[in-house]
Amino acid sequence: MRWSKAHLFTLKDAPNDAEIPSHKLMSRAGMIKKVGPGLYTYGNLALRSIRKLERIIREELNKRGAQEVLMPMVQPAELWQETNRWKEMGDGLLKFKNRNGHDFCLGATHEEVITDYVRNDIKSYRDLPANLYQIQTKYRDEIRPRFGLMRGREFIMKDAYSFDADEKGALINYDLMYDAYKAIFTRLGLDFRIVEADAGNIGGSKTHEFQVLAEAGEDHLMVCDTCDFAANVEVAPAKSVSSPKMATTKPPLLPMEAFETKGLKSIGTLSKSLGIPENQLVKTMFFSMNEGADPADKSVKPVAVCLAGDDEVNPVKLKNALGMSNPPLMLTDQEVKDATGAWPGSCGPVGLKFPVYIDTAIQHFSNFVVGANKDAEHFRNVNFDRDFKATKSADLRLAKTGMACPTCAKVGRTGAYKSFRGIEVGHVFYLGTKYSKAMHATYLTAEGTPTPIEMGCYGIGVSRTVQAAIEQSHDADGIVWPHGIAPFDVHIAVLDPDQEEVRQSAEVLYRDLESHGFDVLLDDRSERAGVKFKDADLLGMPVRVNIGARGLKEGIVELVTRKTKTVDKVKAEEATEKIAALFKAIRSGKNA
Ligand code: ATP
Ligand code: MG
Repeated sequence: MRWSKAHLFTLKDAPNDAEIPSHKLMSRAGMIKKVGPGLYTYGNLALRSIRKLERIIREELNKRGAQEVLMPMVQPAELWQETNRWKEMGDGLLKFKNRNGHDFCLGATHEEVITDYVRNDIKSYRDLPANLYQIQTKYRDEIRPRFGLMRGREFIMKDAYSFDADEKGALINYDLMYDAYKAIFTRLGLDFRIVEADAGNIGGSKTHEFQVLAEAGEDHLMVCDTCDFAANVEVAPAKSVSSPKMATTKPPLLPMEAFETKGLKSIGTLSKSLGIPENQLVKTMFFSMNEGADPADKSVKPVAVCLAGDDEVNPVKLKNALGMSNPPLMLTDQEVKDATGAWPGSCGPVGLKFPVYIDTAIQHFSNFVVGANKDAEHFRNVNFDRDFKATKSADLRLAKTGMACPTCAKVGRTGAYKSFRGIEVGHVFYLGTKYSKAMHATYLTAEGTPTPIEMGCYGIGVSRTVQAAIEQSHDADGIVWPHGIAPFDVHIAVLDPDQEEVRQSAEVLYRDLESHGFDVLLDDRSERAGVKFKDADLLGMPVRVNIGARGLKEGIVELVTRKTKTVDKVKAEEATEKIAALFKAIRSGKNA
């Protein structure tokens, strides 16, 4: 592509709403342009990169027997009503009516449509297994779109769906997709971790996320410092390394009594005043089990959660313990007052008329302090069963750095969690029969028994991955493209474009490189060398060629490797050959 003829405009400054490096760099490189919140036009460079990633994805999936299809983005409500997700998905699903008054939504994901597609075709066990995928634009009405393509409302996803006769087959397909994802992200040269994850409202039981490690990542990961175990903090089991927070041998139960705690509303002040460490105090948090599935029902359905003073509630674990589809909302101060009789800071589990869940870290506690549900009062010497009954005890807290790795603990090793930030670029789920049962997608076994099809679903955030690659690979001057998805392989900077001889040589090299299969950006603009170098660094193609009058006098051009900034002076007529050799080294990881 000749820059002089291209629609490509770089910017000195990033837009104000670009907070993280990759968003700034993509904007400055003219790769993306905001149309509205979470809505972007992909410029030619971004699209080239996206197409390259798509090609890698197709290669790896086709190799494993998956077949590409394309489903509509506009989907009738009836399909979503069959699985109840028309309600469950909440406002994330953008719904609208057409001219006939029929309800539709924009595809946020395609389990319903694909299940409908296969239920008409798959009749017998002989028609299984199947694995179908598409690469398509999705729409999710995200509450807070941000960070450019990282969290868009409209974004490109690869979604695959597998269909099998039984769980064993479904898990084989799961492993195949897991392998495919590993191969895809490895080919991109990304530093990623595969982590255990929550199934969200997709449903299902076995699930892993593929997370690109980056400071700007929205996900919080717990990674074992000794073994391969890694989990999203949403599901990371919380195991204290040291002994339980209070002695396990039960001391005698003392009589419960109320005492005044004026001005002691936080765990910190209470701890100081009572001289009891925060991790031995019990705090009580309040949530509503009303998920808003029925918009007419605005009632608060309170649930109390008791946990150690220095722990935090993990909303996803709580959601799962309560069997909800989405994490429950915390009650407002007024709702807490209405539910318990006291303002937050003086509330506790004693005497409540609604469920009380307790975190496992406190289940051995005895004679502990809790709020008395009366302003400025607490109870001391509170004990389970005698003073209140816990509805359920479960691991409801957020895991922290230093906690014991569950895999290591099982075999007596001392591995501990280290924490990382990650960008979720891929997600694989084993779904079981959630969708096939709800939508009556069955097949006949060899014995002729109608049986629901076993399913899996597998997503890759295509547009997000391209930005994640930049987030992980850039320097102070700009993008440092992983070679597999660089919009162009080679960037030729024509340093003296006003001189015919230079233009000619650049043109010859440009054509020669293209004929050797390289994608080449020829910067033939009439700009100063300094401007061209700055832009080349910003755009970040793996190899740059500087071609100018001074070098050509000696028959020389310069090859610059973007990542290392190393400069090789080579004979102009050998440039293509040298670049090919350089790419061989880059692709094999020797000079990446
Ligand atoms: P997140 O937790 O980031 O909201 P998700 O778990 O809801 O994502 P999935 O349903 O697993 O997303 O979708 C598959 C993939 O699509 C994700 O792994 C992610 O890479 C990508 N994706 C999801 N939401 C967005 C978005 N708003 N913008 C860009 N990519 C997205
Ligand atoms: Mg996900």
